Amino acid sequence: MKISWHDLERESLENLRTLIRLDTTNPPGNERIAADFLAEELASHGIESVIRESAPTRANLVARLAGSDSSKGPLMLSSHTDVVPVERSGWTREPFSGEIADGCVWGRGSIDMKSKCAMDLAMMTAMKRAGVKPDRDVMMVAVADEEAGSDYGAKFLVERYPELVRAGYVLNEVGGFTVHLGSRRFYPIQVAEKGFVTIKMKVTAMPGHGSMPRADTAISRMSELITKIVQTPMRQKVSPFMRKTLTEMGVPVEGAGPLFQPMLANTVSPTILRAGYKDNVIPGEATVVLDGRTLPGEDPESLMAELREIVGPDPTFELIKTAPPAETSPDTPLFKLIAKTVEAADPGARAIPWMIPGATDSKFYSKLGAACYGFSPVKLDPHMPFGSLYHGNDERLPIDGFNWGLKVYADVVLKFVGVKFDDVFA
Ligand SMILES: [Zn+2]
Repeated sequence: MKISWHDLERESLENLRTLIRLDTTNPPGNERIAADFLAEELASHGIESVIRESAPTRANLVARLAGSDSSKGPLMLSSHTDVVPVERSGWTREPFSGEIADGCVWGRGSIDMKSKCAMDLAMMTAMKRAGVKPDRDVMMVAVADEEAGSDYGAKFLVERYPELVRAGYVLNEVGGFTVHLGSRRFYPIQVAEKGFVTIKMKVTAMPGHGSMPRADTAISRMSELITKIVQTPMRQKVSPFMRKTLTEMGVPVEGAGPLFQPMLANTVSPTILRAGYKDNVIPGEATVVLDGRTLPGEDPESLMAELREIVGPDPTFELIKTAPPAETSPDTPLFKLIAKTVEAADPGARAIPWMIPGATDSKFYSKLGAACYGFSPVKLDPHMPFGSLYHGNDERLPIDGFNWGLKVYADVVLKFVGVKFDDVFA
């Protein structure tokens, strides 16, 4: 039976509010409550789902609508159900209430990314209720632990249950939101994300008594090295799509501002510094944790070689953890459909391929061969920039912008799987 579009809007907003009220702050996560809610909603419309726990309460949900052509790679609608912690003192409203005020739904996860989870749920149940058959499998995957590195979520599923989550295409978070640049509007669509390489760097020198000062100590050597690291720009490497994107935005590649630099080079940030154990002992060693981020095409070795050129032969490096970068070509039918749909829904705006300096679950799904795009559409006014809401205090989502995004998302998803909008919605 066809569904009224307005009913779907209302229902999706209510589902988003319910998801916000389920406190899945990570740590500890407790994503089971969100997975159970989604499983019940899906089941009430006749869609079975599978839940795989990576640890007690760390639940990952996968549901599937079978398509008519098994030769076509499945489309995965991907979300994570965990959220980052809140600093309550910085909030003007209750962060787990799903309260509606000033035209927005308020709460942790309203942007990142329970809104997309609600959209994914809407697409699954709408197609099922309307009785349409997509031409390829459509999967909904809602996982735990994205905000803490994905060990209990996407990484776990990809390593332990690859057949459950293997897809041809993935629509995931971080993309499709409005960026206002002067009077122009852009919709970045994530096609690439950086990898990370976390390194512990250590220097040693003669220890001694604090009453006998000298210039050359582990601490002074470490200070010099850190200064060198933060003051030495890493070599620029501009990928063809970033060059095209920056040109389109009117941003010069040479001299692109600090907002753009992380997308044009590997980066290294010192994050944890340790030395010393007693107030009158000059310590014999000092360590720093370096948060390294790699561009597509780079790996831990190439980053460490570049870092070595900056710091010289003295310090030792210990690799703590790594994850690879990921990149999907914007030259696919799905990307073109996304761009065309977004531009039609906001006349005058441009959709552009984008790289994010952080990490998402896309890097794990892409390991199984999927083309992954960050596309969680929402229209934002100039006074409500995405950057200030993402992981921020008073995270909130404009309801008009959400409804706009739901429509754009439905247009893309249905068209991509060969279903007519009018066959699903009245
Ligand atoms: Zn997220």
